[in-house]
Amino acid sequence: MPLPSHAGGIVAIDTAALADNWRALAARHAAPTAAVVKADGYGLGATRIAPSLAAAGCRHFFVAHLQEALALRPLLPGAMLAVLNGPLPGTEAEFAANDILPVLNSLDDIARWSTLAAQLGRALPAILHIDTGMARLGLPPDEAATLTAEPHRLAGIPLRFVMTHLAAAEHRESPLNHTQATRFAAITAAFPGIPTSFANSSGIFLGEAFRSALARPGIALYGANPTPGQPNPMRPVVCLRVRVLQLREIPPGTPVGYEATWRARRPTRIATACVGYADGWPRALSNRGAAFFDGTALPLVGRVSMDLVTYDATDCPSLRPGDWLELIGPHMPLDDVAALAGTNAYEILTSLGPRYARQLLPTA
Ligand SMILES: *Cc1c(COP(=O)(O)O)cnc(C)c1O
Repeated sequence: MPLPSHAGGIVAIDTAALADNWRALAARHAAPTAAVVKADGYGLGATRIAPSLAAAGCRHFFVAHLQEALALRPLLPGAMLAVLNGPLPGTEAEFAANDILPVLNSLDDIARWSTLAAQLGRALPAILHIDTGMARLGLPPDEAATLTAEPHRLAGIPLRFVMTHLAAAEHRESPLNHTQATRFAAITAAFPGIPTSFANSSGIFLGEAFRSALARPGIALYGANPTPGQPNPMRPVVCLRVRVLQLREIPPGTPVGYEATWRARRPTRIATACVGYADGWPRALSNRGAAFFDGTALPLVGRVSMDLVTYDATDCPSLRPGDWLELIGPHMPLDDVAALAGTNAYEILTSLGPRYARQLLPTA
């Protein structure tokens, strides 16, 4: 497929690597494994990538919002599609009508889902989420205790899974991991026969105590390292390239960009590229990191502005307007970009803006 001529930037998505990553995680988990495709597939485009994951054998998908599930439902026939944020009051009937599973995060969610089941006169399956140490979403300990003491609250609700979510799985040594595993084992004992769902990407690498009937990896599918500090077991999936708009020669002492935060120390060639913080390229990368052209590093100089970034291209005499610079790719891994920006790969990926063209590789 030729590169779209109007695009200032291209997010190329290696769907073969994506499928390989899902298979590798499923093999590592040695038990059923879902795919988390919330936030538009971590910025890659959920409707583009979910079919590749389904083709690789994935049968369980998670998103955060009902709208995300509705967009994916026709593309994933027969697959389980669940909404992590649960049913907002008034949306329950839409879940039921579209075969979308809510994750029930509170006694109130449970009551509303059970009421709908009674109204419709049929069983309405769901996933139950118990909070075991994050204090964010899911039944808090007191609600979980109420539920186990009063199981009739689940009338009409066959539970497909009981799940919890790890708060610090990327930190192998965090004692919170085992605290959560212990609490989860205690709570699941109260739901005999109901399959469990536990590990996220990093949790899959924590060992036996974190295995469940359904892992829920997200970020590792997209190539980020789920085992920080150790070699990345995943294949890179995302390559971001942006176009050079203009080149100029500047004499020593010339300031570059807003607020003149960088000045040339030698005769310098400046390349201005077609990307900015409005595209999700973090302003925190001002004067940090580099783009690559033909394997040569072009240090980012000056502030990242809304639509433009400037690079020192002095070592790249062959660079021309219209050429493509690698911002994420073989020379500049996603996790390195995140570290330079003082954030994580999740934020870099989910910030990838709508102005980029998204291209699936390999293309038919
Ligand atoms: C986002 C999310 C996941 C996926 O986590 P990763 O760290 O991306 O693997 C799994 N479960 C829940 C509840 C989530 O919110």
